[in-house]
Amino acid sequence: MHIKVFWDPQSPEGLQLPVARMLSQILALPVDVEPSPFLLRGFDHGRNQYNAQTILDSLQDVYTRQVGTDLPILLVMPHDLFIPGLDFVFGLARRRINAGVVSTARLTNGYYGREHSDDDVMDRLVKEGAHEVGHLFGLEHCSDPECIMFMPQTLDDLDRKKKDLCIGCRARLQAVLD
Ligand SMILES: [Zn+2]
Ligand SMILES: [Zn+2]
Repeated sequence: MHIKVFWDPQSPEGLQLPVARMLSQILALPVDVEPSPFLLRGFDHGRNQYNAQTILDSLQDVYTRQVGTDLPILLVMPHDLFIPGLDFVFGLARRRINAGVVSTARLTNGYYGREHSDDDVMDRLVKEGAHEVGHLFGLEHCSDPECIMFMPQTLDDLDRKKKDLCIGCRARLQAVLD
């Protein structure tokens, strides 16, 4: 078992390998990263955001059907995401197709008018990416605000989390992998 990360060419450059390494540490699984071949669908002109559900639909079409893999996949993309009914989402996962997507749009300090830091982007991306992959393994939201599986509503929520699962979520992940 390993995890495939697809990195959209417009996502922040140079962070791929450290992000893959940190994801691998949290999930205790090998993680590969490669450039994303996906053409992004689901852009909503009125909102200037992509519909995360449409993105997952296209991952299912392009990847899981054509390549026929059952490995968990995570797409990292730079554009802001929403789902109908919510102003935005940091990411979204769909267990049925074993695929998730994470946007870096709201993970950069620049989005909030603060000074840029690659370390901050990587930290947040790793937390958000591990969270979506956790869903692919059947983990649900956790009430521990420091756990990867806690659902962040704001950047502060995300920054408060540790780059780790709580003991309970760790045990549930291990049970799925064993
Ligand atoms: Zn979640
Ligand atoms: Zn937890």
